Amino acid sequence: MKVERFRIEPGSRVDWSEHDPEATPGCASKAAAAAPLARNLERLFELQEMLYAQGERALLIVLQGMDTSGKDGVIEHVMGAFNPQGVQITPFKVPTPDELAHDFLWRVHKATPGRGMVGIFNRSHYEDVLVVRVARLAPKAVWSKRYAHINAFEKLLADSGVAIVKLFLHISPEEQVKRLIERRDTPGKQWKFSPGDLEVRTQWSAYMEAYADALERCSTAWAPWYVVPANKKWYRNLVVSEILVDTLSRLDLAYPPPPENIATFEIPPAG
Ligand code: ADP
Repeated sequence: MKVERFRIEPGSRVDWSEHDPEATPGCASKAAAAAPLARNLERLFELQEMLYAQGERALLIVLQGMDTSGKDGVIEHVMGAFNPQGVQITPFKVPTPDELAHDFLWRVHKATPGRGMVGIFNRSHYEDVLVVRVARLAPKAVWSKRYAHINAFEKLLADSGVAIVKLFLHISPEEQVKRLIERRDTPGKQWKFSPGDLEVRTQWSAYMEAYADALERCSTAWAPWYVVPANKKWYRNLVVSEILVDTLSRLDLAYPPPPENIATFEIPPAG
């Protein structure tokens, strides 16, 4: 599977009519996805172990998408392949008063992964040009400057050794309504049902416009955005795993060299 087909090339326009959330190019069925997904998950484990052992680079995964798009699902089913010791997951919620008293990247910078680590943002600094814009939590004069702030911030991270990959999990409003009904009516899922999500749904097109702008302006060579067709959970998981394998494979990861003459070390008896 070629992951480039999902990447937003820097400077290109995002036209949602060209991105079908239902599509499954390159894989026809859930059964056909099982083997390549399993292979990718194994590879992710190996690559992350090298990232951790080498301790030079870091990986930041940014997850965005409308409610029920599967952000929690990919963390469980794809990022679950990583060794938890090397992973730091940060959900970004409504900012606290302390966070609001600072610039919008203050809380984000503190959550970025250190060398050897994988950082996962469940929502991110992009909320500051999405919900903030659509719900008018700040004036345009404030949020419109943030695209440039975000690009400069992500460049700083990239120049500091952080590989960045940004995933927009793309579902259709028709798929969302099915998932919301399931959430509402299934006892084990009701804890995730939030009446506030319903209002966001009524502003679907405003959100898609805000997403298009964010992806257009902030898909860069150093921090690309990918649009992942996410109506089919099995396809979403496969594509996310492919993108992560691709990103980690480019990092020139290797185990650090062992101590010189390692084979000559005698293991002493325990004292
Ligand atoms: P989930 O991510 O599972 O939906 P919540 O239901 O707690 O988790 O939702 C988090 C909420 O926080 C979302 O509605 C999101 O839009 C909001 N949020 C995140 N970042 C910001 C921000 N910078 N400003 C305002 N709201 C934000």
